[in-house]
Amino acid sequence: MKNLKMATLGNKKRTLVQAGTAVFGDRLVVIAGPCSVESEKQTIEAAIAVKEAGADMLRGGAFKPRTSPYAFQGLGLEGLKILRKASEITGLPTVTEVIDTRDVSWVAEYVDMLQIGARNMQNFSLLLEVGRQERPVLLKRGMYSTIEEWLNCAEYILSEGNPNVVLCERGIRTFERYTRNTLDLSAMVAARQLSHLPVIVDPTHATGRLSLIEPMSLAAIASGTDGLAVEVHPCPDEALCDGEQSMPPELFVRYMKNIRALQHAMESLP
Ligand code: PEP
Ligand code: MN
Repeated sequence: MKNLKMATLGNKKRTLVQAGTAVFGDRLVVIAGPCSVESEKQTIEAAIAVKEAGADMLRGGAFKPRTSPYAFQGLGLEGLKILRKASEITGLPTVTEVIDTRDVSWVAEYVDMLQIGARNMQNFSLLLEVGRQERPVLLKRGMYSTIEEWLNCAEYILSEGNPNVVLCERGIRTFERYTRNTLDLSAMVAARQLSHLPVIVDPTHATGRLSLIEPMSLAAIASGTDGLAVEVHPCPDEALCDGEQSMPPELFVRYMKNIRALQHAMESLP
């Protein structure tokens, strides 16, 4: 890291980032929910399922940055209202992606945390804009980005006065095609060594494969992650986005049992 004056660097005292009732940097935080908010029924069913299984926070995209302009782009304002209703019903705090500087201030009124997606990690005007408001920010690592670039993007947010940033490793592009991306678990560990900010892992987008999500989550917990973000859909076959990598509720129940068991074992280590 070239600039040692960066506020993001230094790990002597870890920063706690609060998003509603969820506190990152203390105990493991599990974020779960659908890739996108598709309807009130789908989102509320997902929210109740993840709450009952023991998740700490609800995710769901109202604005989807899709590869094709003709793919489902999200419900926008309607989606945010649904997310807020799901939060009121379950008591779960919420996180949603924001993709446009013009939307930051009003989107922030509907959710507890704003997500900057991998495709926007270096959208510097968006980083500055979320740095000027008070909601905590979940900053995903760009799929072509180095750890240094990622930490510098967190620095953009901190430099505008918002200290509440959580980093999220979500896999990088490599030559491998079997997995959607390549989970760079060492980047999560390195970012936690270099920075005081909480760092979580998204094994869903990192692998794109249901069979790999739990093993990679366990590996992330064993490596010290501050949290996990996973996709859960009440009926993955009908999902408008990322159905093939979304856990159905019954799988998520088993997943939560196993990851909480390892979490508790880790917490009782001397
Ligand atoms: C998401 O979490 O909904 C998402 C689009 O992920 P990423 O930005 O990591 O691709
Ligand atoms: Mn997704």
